[in-house]
Amino acid sequence: MKQQIMHIGIDDTDSTRKGCTTYITALLVEKLVKLNVKFLDYPSLIRLNPNVPWKTRGNGALCLRVKYDAGLEDQIKDAAISLVEECSDLSFRGTDPGIVFITKAEIPDEFKAFAKNTITGIVTLKEAMRLIKKFGGEALGFNTCRGIIGALAAVGETFEADYTYELIAYRMAENCGLKRKVDTASIFEMDKLTRPYTFNNVDLEKGRVVITPRGADPILFGIRGETPEIVKKAFRMVKPLEPVERWLVFRSNQGTDAHLRRVSALNQIEPYNSVIVRGAVSRNPQLIPLRHVIFSMKDETGEVDCAAYEPTGALRKVARDLIVGDSIEAYGAVRKPSAGKRLTINLEKINILALAPKIVLQNPLCLKCGKRLKSMGKDKGFRCEKCGARFNDAEKVQTAMERGLKAGLYVTSTRSQRHLTKPLSRYGLEKHNAEAEGMIENWHSP
Ligand SMILES: [Zn+2]
Repeated sequence: MKQQIMHIGIDDTDSTRKGCTTYITALLVEKLVKLNVKFLDYPSLIRLNPNVPWKTRGNGALCLRVKYDAGLEDQIKDAAISLVEECSDLSFRGTDPGIVFITKAEIPDEFKAFAKNTITGIVTLKEAMRLIKKFGGEALGFNTCRGIIGALAAVGETFEADYTYELIAYRMAENCGLKRKVDTASIFEMDKLTRPYTFNNVDLEKGRVVITPRGADPILFGIRGETPEIVKKAFRMVKPLEPVERWLVFRSNQGTDAHLRRVSALNQIEPYNSVIVRGAVSRNPQLIPLRHVIFSMKDETGEVDCAAYEPTGALRKVARDLIVGDSIEAYGAVRKPSAGKRLTINLEKINILALAPKIVLQNPLCLKCGKRLKSMGKDKGFRCEKCGARFNDAEKVQTAMERGLKAGLYVTSTRSQRHLTKPLSRYGLEKHNAEAEGMIENWHSP
């Protein structure tokens, strides 16, 4: 029988009180396994632009890529639609599920570009619908239908820049909403044995576990790493203290900085985008109420504010020690300014390219005994407290101070990293071979 390929994109089925699009995907995998379809790749878990103003949740969209006997097409679509209808929190305001079916073997370049724009910036439903129509796809939306945007982006993201994996283990329905029970020591042990090939398991600074989410969703924990093998190995090291209902390996853009777009000048940055941009510190850091740090940076085209918030800990300390003239690259989300104010970059990373010398004016040293002199008052000269010598014409001297800061890349603490933030431990582990290395046999629970 004729074989066909389908890409199924799903997004925005969950709310803060219920559900999880990755879980719907896991259920759909089970249904499709029963239909004997062949999976062409791991399910994709795509994190979209974290700065979209109408989004406060994880903002993950999913895609399945399958090959099947052409006669199964309707059954596959029905399976996806009925699961989204059953499992979405449709009555929740702001939950706007979307499903997209694309039956093309190759992903069109326009889909890839659309995915990139959805991950780094703002796109419209109209644009998504235009592309779906142009390439003969189908889309189904609920409520405002906004989920169609993410669903198409998930189809279009082919991981040409970099990717990671996540194994997600799910809870029994009756445990959802209760405190998650996982042996903490086993998580720290797993982290020690699999790092850096897994990442963001624990926050070593605070001694806290990061792999278990909070909230009523069905995820017990998720382990992120470089290969399907390592996340599976790590999964076996973790001791759950409640039953795992199912587990599944996803391929993802998490931990890849996919949301950041390098811009060449400060006048190119726009609200709601995440950027990497160069400039020089133009106003010294100020500690503002609630202990945020704000400084300004500029280049020949403009000036912006940069903010490091208290929860970012380590990064805030670095930001506090910058001075005017330091040459930096700022990484972060651009916030829309209030009226009359400048754009602000909420910092995720700072790359210090060059430090400016920190010059302070000091009293001169005594020419007789070498002790630092005391000022006698403005324009009244200096006096040595040790030997009593006076120097009426002496002036303050410029001294270069130790900066206590080194050039290099600084990243927010593990606990405040976004899903998309590439942690320091991943630098050097990036993968540029968009084709997955061939799938392992058991990438989901039986
Ligand atoms: Zn002296």
